[in-house]
Amino acid sequence: MTSLNTKRIREDFPILKIKINGNTLVYLDNAATSQKPRQVIETVREYYEQYNSNVHRGLHKLSERASDEYEKAHEKAERFVGADNGEIVFTKNTTESLNLLAYSLGEELKKGDEILLTEAEHHANLVPWQQLALQKKAKLKFAKVELEEGKIDAEQFDKLVNKKTKIVSVTAMSNVLGNNVDVKKIGEIIKDNSDAKFIVDGAQGAAHRKTDVKKLGCDFMAFSGHKMLAPTGIGALYGRKELLEKMRPFMYGGDMIKKVTFEESTFNSVPWKFEAGTPNIAGAIGFRAAIDYLEKVGMESIEEHEKELTRYALKRLNEDERIEFIGSSKKRAGIISFNIKGVHAHDVASIFDQHGIAIRAGHHCAMPLMSLYNAAGSARMSFYLYNTKEEVDKVIHAIAHVKKIFGI
Ligand code: PMP
Repeated sequence: MTSLNTKRIREDFPILKIKINGNTLVYLDNAATSQKPRQVIETVREYYEQYNSNVHRGLHKLSERASDEYEKAHEKAERFVGADNGEIVFTKNTTESLNLLAYSLGEELKKGDEILLTEAEHHANLVPWQQLALQKKAKLKFAKVELEEGKIDAEQFDKLVNKKTKIVSVTAMSNVLGNNVDVKKIGEIIKDNSDAKFIVDGAQGAAHRKTDVKKLGCDFMAFSGHKMLAPTGIGALYGRKELLEKMRPFMYGGDMIKKVTFEESTFNSVPWKFEAGTPNIAGAIGFRAAIDYLEKVGMESIEEHEKELTRYALKRLNEDERIEFIGSSKKRAGIISFNIKGVHAHDVASIFDQHGIAIRAGHHCAMPLMSLYNAAGSARMSFYLYNTKEEVDKVIHAIAHVKKIFGI
C-alpha cells in the first residue's frame, strides 16, 4: 500500500459518498477537475456567512478581513510554487493566464518572430498562440512527441530555438499522455540559445507534483485552482517580477490603477496591475484552504500514491489485449488514455457511468495530438490523492461488462 491514508482522506470528500446509478461514485476524471474537501467548502462558506465584502476598498471590518484573507491567499500560492512576493497573479484559470500572456507578451512580437510549442499542448496552450501568430505573421513551431511512448525529448529544442524565437510555451504534463516533461532541461536549452520568454503550462503538473518555479527556471507558469481541490473560477499566473513589472496590463478598470485623471492613468504594482475589477475572493480564499490541505498531505506523497495506482492500473489493463493506449510513457503521472479495440470511447464512458465510474471520453481538448495517433478520441482515467486500488478493480470489472455488451 502507499503511504497515504486514503481511507482517512476520503472522509474529507463528501461527494465520494454519493451513489451514481446505485453504485458508490468512483471519480476518475481528476485531470478535468478535482473534488473538494470539506475544509475548502467550509472555508468558502465561512467567507460568505461571516465576512463577505469587497477587497482593497472598504474601510470597514468585513472588508479589512476579506482583504487580509485574499492577500494571504496570494502569499500561500506564492510559497506553494516557490515564487517571491508579488509574483502570483490571480486569474480565472490556466486558460486565462495563458491568454493574458499571449495578449501582453504578444504586443512585442514582430513579423517573422517564432513561437515554439509542443505537439502535446492542450488547446489552452495552442489556440491563443496560433491566433497571435496569425495576427502578427509570426511563425508557429512544434517540438515533436515521440508517439510510441508519448514523450517529449528535451534535446530537440536545441535545433528548434534560435535568435528569432521569442516565446516558448510547454506543458509540464500532457493531460492526454500523462508524461512528465523535463521542463527544467528544456528551459536550460532555451536560455542558452535565445532570449525567448519561457512559459510552462502547469495545469496538470502543479496539481500533481511538487513544483518550484525558480528551480524549473521558467519565466511564467499558468495553473488552475479547480484541478487541485480549490473551487472553480480561480487560477494563477506566476511571472518573474521584473517581467510582470514591464508588461502591459491585460484588462483595465478598477483596482488595477494607482491614479486616474480624465486623460491618463498610472497602474498599480504587481500583482494587482493584472487583477482588474472585483476578483474571485471566495475562490482565492478557497484556493488557500486547498493548498493547506495538499501541503498537509504532502505533494511528494500524493505523487507517489498516483504513480503506484498508475503502475497497478497499467498492469491490470495490460492483461487485456483489447486495450490500446495513447502513449505508454513509463515516466508518467496518474493519467491513462486508452481505447477498447472495437468500442467507441463514448460507449465506454456511458457503460462506466452505469457502474458509477466517472471518466472522460473524447479528444481531451488536444485535437492535434489525437490526430497524430489517428484517434478521434479515447477514454481517460486520471487519479488523485483519494483514489484507491479497489477503484481500479472496479474499472477492470466495468471493462469486462463493456466487452460482454459488445460481444467481444
Ligand atoms: N492545460 C492543460 C494541460 C490542461 O489539462 C488543462 C485542463 N484540462 C488546461 C490547460 C486548461 O485548464 P483550465 O480549463 O482550468 O483553464
